[in-house]
Amino acid sequence: MENVIVVTGGSRGIGAATARLAAKRGYAVCVNYRQREAAAQQVVADIQAMGGRAIAIAANVASEPDVVALFQQVDEQLGPLTALVNNAGILEQQMRVEMMDADRLNRIFTTNITSCFLCAREAIKRMSTANGGRGGAIVNVSSVAARLGSPGEYVDYAASKGAIDTLTLGLAKEVADHGIRVNAVRPGFIDTEIHASGGEPNRIDRVKSTVPMQRGGAAEEVANAILWLLSHEASYTTGAFIDIAGGK
Ligand code: NAP
Repeated sequence: MENVIVVTGGSRGIGAATARLAAKRGYAVCVNYRQREAAAQQVVADIQAMGGRAIAIAANVASEPDVVALFQQVDEQLGPLTALVNNAGILEQQMRVEMMDADRLNRIFTTNITSCFLCAREAIKRMSTANGGRGGAIVNVSSVAARLGSPGEYVDYAASKGAIDTLTLGLAKEVADHGIRVNAVRPGFIDTEIHASGGEPNRIDRVKSTVPMQRGGAAEEVANAILWLLSHEASYTTGAFIDIAGGK
């Protein structure tokens, strides 16, 4: 039977690389995005050009009705879900904690944390052997920020990723006997557009000398680890973390 995957935030960056690699590995792929439809449709077109099956679905994963509708569309258009990558995430303008207001904190926490709980819930409903599903795997995209803290830049973002690490540990144990594995990747400085959201598009050039490998990473290097964690090769791996950070 065909594997079916939802990649949240699959239109750009790490999510797009993951969607493309998943298609190469034979998954039918749902490329979720928030607003950049053209970018999402380009990922779908690339997958279709390789002979794969993909759809693009707009949904704000911080919104419960959007998440419910997203998974219903996957049921209808791709079939039974077997994998979820909780990848969508945001950061905002670099600033110290003393400058952060509640609106910003709520945007970061709902987009980076609530979304992962909601998408995991919808995936578990479908994949759990306790519900008649055939099992599956979830990979959460955390960050090394969870253990570095991102002082002076975005402690709120780092804290949201700390929550994702704890979600990974707890959920992995909760659903282990329901045929579902839950793991996380923790990327370091990866060359994507997310750094522009923090106000510093060339951030990697500034910080790469602090990385033992002296360079930033590519989205494809993160995607490789995600696809391994989803695969049967990782069949006895759950509640685990892979840091993809050049030794940082
Ligand atoms: P990116 O290039 O900025 O792409 C973000 C993606 O998330 C886009 O597809 C965007 O959709 C989508 N998105 C944002 N908010 C969304 C929402 N509310 N609902 C649905 N989709 C949403 O980011 P990236 O660097 O690839 O980051 C992906 C993940 O890796 C994030 O969780 C990030 O925290 C994590 N990470 C990144 C790095 C890094 O250095 N790049 C390091 C550690 C961890 P649109 O295209 O429609 O805007």
